[in-house]
Amino acid sequence: MSYPVYGRIEGPVVIIGFGSIGRGTLPLIERHFDFDRNDIHVVEPSDAHAAFLKEKGVQFHQVALTPENYRDVLDGLFKGKPQGFCVNLSVDTSSLDIMKHCRSLGTLYIDTVVEPWLGFYFDESASLAERSNYALRETVRAEKRNNPGGTTAVSCCGANPGMVSWFVKEALLNIARDTGFAHETPQSRRDWAKLMQGLGVKGVHIAERDTQAPDYPRPRGVFVNTWSVEGFLSEGFQPAELGWGSHEKALPEGAGTHETGCRAAIYLNRPGAITKVHTWCPTPGPQYGFLVTHNEAISIADYYTVGEGADPEYRPTCHYAYHPSDMAVLSLHECFGSPEPQKEHRILDENEIVEGVDELGVLLFGHRKNAYWYGSRLSMEETRGLAPDQNATGLQVTSAVLAGMVWALENPEAGIVETDEMDHARCLEVQKPYLGPVEGHYTDWTPLAARWDRNTADLDHDDPWQFRNILAS
Ligand code: NAD
Repeated sequence: MSYPVYGRIEGPVVIIGFGSIGRGTLPLIERHFDFDRNDIHVVEPSDAHAAFLKEKGVQFHQVALTPENYRDVLDGLFKGKPQGFCVNLSVDTSSLDIMKHCRSLGTLYIDTVVEPWLGFYFDESASLAERSNYALRETVRAEKRNNPGGTTAVSCCGANPGMVSWFVKEALLNIARDTGFAHETPQSRRDWAKLMQGLGVKGVHIAERDTQAPDYPRPRGVFVNTWSVEGFLSEGFQPAELGWGSHEKALPEGAGTHETGCRAAIYLNRPGAITKVHTWCPTPGPQYGFLVTHNEAISIADYYTVGEGADPEYRPTCHYAYHPSDMAVLSLHECFGSPEPQKEHRILDENEIVEGVDELGVLLFGHRKNAYWYGSRLSMEETRGLAPDQNATGLQVTSAVLAGMVWALENPEAGIVETDEMDHARCLEVQKPYLGPVEGHYTDWTPLAARWDRNTADLDHDDPWQFRNILAS
């Protein structure tokens, strides 16, 4: 097979964190970029893959980055060399600190989440608002405001957050085409927001169904997932958060709002991983999802706001509605029923998964054609033929990292950007060969019509798209 080479990285390539996503990203970097093969590095505290990396000629630095050592480690790798690329795929490291330092060195940077240093997620002295993704995202937005322009750093460029923001734009163009909505090609954030408003979109679910499974039952006492267990537990225990739309009539019970920042989002006073919502994906149709907090719920709501502040002219509601793999659902059930999370973790890899698809897309609802899901329906089987060392969930993430890296190389002085702010067409052009079928589906589903308790629960029967109707329990 020959693969397109998208550009040359002049200096060192450094991957921080070599877990499930790092392992899957490495072969895509090797495949699609020209760089000095003697100057590629992995920084990672565990030596589980040391022999594998040695065999591949990748320099392995067995170290955990900390607030005390990260500058020295990065200086040692990048300082005095031509422009390199830092690909941060670790947990427990501060995305903001590493990003800032990379920019000061003139090093390109990308990550898949705004990650804090170890201890943030489970700090019992912090308020719910302080432990929110809203607060984390605001730190990066403040850095962008205070230090505009300069070396490109792409924030939150995985599948979600990441790719789904490109799907939202594609979905808007498709809905406009299918409803005959006349518009100019959007050129700016405001144009995109006006298009969404003009189409009458009330909300967006990041609607995902993961059916990947091994051929054995879930072992009791083990948290099993298809990507980072640590990452999932951290976000799952954070308060549920959502972008709060201008069509919403009333805040949900236990909701908190923010007094500073973009004010596009609210949080609930309970963990996202036990907050169920009604949603829709092509294979299952109507289904439950968990309203786990995610950066894109806030960034998308913010990006598509017309007006400002807590009461804008227009803003969509936006949140994650995630049905993880069945094993992860059982793991969550066990976890939240126990005083402590399971100590043993397992990420199902490509060698164990015998069936299943990760169906990950965006569901735009409330417009003239009711609701539209647009996304990737990537199976484990297809993944095996596309790229090594990962499952379907992983490939949706790593191919977004690839697309983000290509965009950064082509736009090296764009400053700090989120994926909403990037050229979605170019990014999807790079990514789509790795996504399996990318499809759009209209549905007449509404949360009201699909709810088993629609005749008894306290619902809004005048507007099916009120969050009250979507929130299950
Ligand atoms: P993982 O748990 O498999 O791997 C994380 C790696 O980070 C581990 O190998 C761990 O040893 C390493 N690490 C821990 N502390 C470190 C430190 N102080 N310095 C350097 N490395 C350290 O996780 P994963 O599934 O590979 O996910 C990696 C990151 O990507 C997580 O932050 C996760 O939330 C994020 N992610 C984002 C998306 C998305 O779509 N945006 C999807 C999946 C994962």
